[in-house]
Amino acid sequence: MSAAPQVLTIPALEAEPGLVHGFSTISLGTMGLTQAPDPEAVLASRRHFARALEIDAESLTVAGAVHGSHVARIDEHHDVVRGVDALVTDQRRVALFATYADCYPIVLWDAEHRCVALAHAGWRGTVARVGPAALKALRSEYGSSPARIKAGIGPGICGRCYEVGEEVASQFDAQFVRKGEGDRFVLDLAAANRAQLEAEGVGEVHVLGLCTKETDYLPSHRRNPDGTRFAAIVAIR
Ligand SMILES: [Zn+2]
Repeated sequence: MSAAPQVLTIPALEAEPGLVHGFSTISLGTMGLTQAPDPEAVLASRRHFARALEIDAESLTVAGAVHGSHVARIDEHHDVVRGVDALVTDQRRVALFATYADCYPIVLWDAEHRCVALAHAGWRGTVARVGPAALKALRSEYGSSPARIKAGIGPGICGRCYEVGEEVASQFDAQFVRKGEGDRFVLDLAAANRAQLEAEGVGEVHVLGLCTKETDYLPSHRRNPDGTRFAAIVAIR
């Protein structure tokens, strides 16, 4: 058996010379502080992840993530920006960071204006349109044209595994929802986020297509709700 990778990337974004991005796996340990019995170990894991991407760990700026669609522009390092699910920057001295366990990381990269966004999209954030909100921030703050933006959707729970009730399913277009067991439904969040970005004119949307619930080296809240999180880092090289 081969060892699990430490960091995953989206090949089409990996090929972008100005962009650094990656998603950690459990090989690097949990990245979530909220339920962590040993916060120091989590901070060490975050530093290890940063080093793996050749990023200065001191530059990590964490999105507090509250399942909404507020966006913060980051011009200098902050430890945590509370109450936002997306960060944007055009500064090399900060690296955008957020944690996940089934929710989707969304990366937006504008090579023309050299600016990036990182968003956190669960079902609530998707209904709140956090992806288009991050895109709008790149337009208003840095003058990005959606057609020139390359988007990446990282690991998350897939459209076969993400069981939801009618109260959640009814908030999504029928094309993203299928009938599940009994009165349950299954929801394709990656497809819903891709469609939102494409409808806003984003030139390229690349979906990694790796399911957290089905991949044993990625943490999944649905498979094991113990607070374990993976993380995304996005920065400008
Ligand atoms: Zn799945």
